[in-house]
Amino acid sequence: MKNVPPGLQTIRGVMGVCHLLVDGEGDAVLLDTGLVGEPAQIRWRLRQRGLGPENVKAILLTHGHVDHAGNVAWAKAWTGAPVYAHPAEQAHVDGTYPYTGINRWCGRLERVARAAFRVGQPAPIDVALADGDELPFWGGLRVVHLPGHTVGHCGFYSVRHDLLFSGDLFASYFFNTHIPPAILNSRPELIPASLEKARQLNPRLMVPQHYDVLDGLLHRRRFDRMLARMARRRQKVWPV
Ligand SMILES: [Zn+2]
Ligand SMILES: [Zn+2]
Repeated sequence: MKNVPPGLQTIRGVMGVCHLLVDGEGDAVLLDTGLVGEPAQIRWRLRQRGLGPENVKAILLTHGHVDHAGNVAWAKAWTGAPVYAHPAEQAHVDGTYPYTGINRWCGRLERVARAAFRVGQPAPIDVALADGDELPFWGGLRVVHLPGHTVGHCGFYSVRHDLLFSGDLFASYFFNTHIPPAILNSRPELIPASLEKARQLNPRLMVPQHYDVLDGLLHRRRFDRMLARMARRRQKVWPV
């Protein structure tokens, strides 16, 4: 764990990572709720800090795919905290999103995961997020709408720590830093503008929800390298 502020806790599941953000007063926020294995870890991480479910003040969702929102109904029942997400994610959370084209594969995979892991019970979004909303958690988090992967996909930017939680805008691994594969993206045509929006925000640190090691500077560097690589490829395909 490097180049991240104190109070940022990794909850590593079978597919991705969700995060527990704890501030100096002992208030905690869950950033995504994971797929399988996360509830035990969330309980344990809170207990390690002498905290309990009553300290969790909010459940923030980057988007409603089942590997991010699979345990949202459990998290809500256990903590009593409200769920914050973009309203377009409600259908994903409930498993009723009308996938089309190649994106249907995403819905099929989600159905398998829901059945196999008994997750994905519907849960209403309590607070509808919009781009630019300022949330009073973890010293302040700004909602950054980054559509493309899903319509309501959002990142969360901490001004205090100059850190962007970028959700599934990209996945960051040693051998492979990439935007999500085509089958997982509902509105792929919106992804370039969202990548550019994150680049212009220019956060010092980035933390996605799928990665190998927790290092905010490293993920930012990989993001820049990925953009450079994508720009080179575009030039090759469409020479100007
Ligand atoms: Zn996703
Ligand atoms: Zn994901």
